[in-house]
Amino acid sequence: MAKPLILLTNDDGVFAKGLQALRKALEEVGEVVVIAPEGERNAVGHALTLHKPLRVREIGDQCFAVNGTPTDCVMLGVYKLLQRRPDLVLSGVNDGPNLGDDVTYSGTVAGAMEGMLLGVPSVAVSLAETGSYFKVAAEFSAYLARYVLRNGMPDSTFLNVNVPPLPWEEIKGVRVTRLGRRIYRTAIVEKTDPRSKPYYWIAGQHPTWAGGEETDFAAVESGFISVSPLHLDLTNYAALAQMAGWKLWPL
Ligand code: MN
Repeated sequence: MAKPLILLTNDDGVFAKGLQALRKALEEVGEVVVIAPEGERNAVGHALTLHKPLRVREIGDQCFAVNGTPTDCVMLGVYKLLQRRPDLVLSGVNDGPNLGDDVTYSGTVAGAMEGMLLGVPSVAVSLAETGSYFKVAAEFSAYLARYVLRNGMPDSTFLNVNVPPLPWEEIKGVRVTRLGRRIYRTAIVEKTDPRSKPYYWIAGQHPTWAGGEETDFAAVESGFISVSPLHLDLTNYAALAQMAGWKLWPL
């Protein structure tokens, strides 16, 4: 039987340490093809490039750099570059957390989201502290990849994994979690440019969060690896019932 084919992408760019660590860890699990942005594409969300040509450079053995987003990379991989359908899409390891509401901004998470939309079991992995080391996250991802390849994925679901920045011996375990709520603080910095016009910088202050013990935030803060099953149905079902009485037509 052929080895499982794994498409590996990220949003930190094809040369990022997290991606390299993950590639190495996945060598034992299957045949890995890297298709990743040529440079950083942080916080691009689920963006797709429609108004400029996409170029693909083969920069190494089974390694392609694309002038696009993680979503572009997964789409190109599945529809064009790979010889067959991948058995798994992995996105990461991201250099920094992707927790709670912030998953909607994340290019890393979107890479896995796109994989799921194309019908491939998909996992996004992030290391919950920028600049810490990636080995634990990469090794856990390889374990989870094997697990998912063997046992399958729940329907219409992809996984968002966040690993606390700790050595193995300090990791407490794994929790299956729901997304917590990010509490935003005012973080727009206003400055003046050399032509005396104001400009603005969205400066992420360290966020606080809410939502209780069963959230991804709580798991990571307590030293657990967080695994959140996500889907794309953003419908608020409780609101459907509440809106049943809205009279919006005729005007
Ligand atoms: Mn990133």
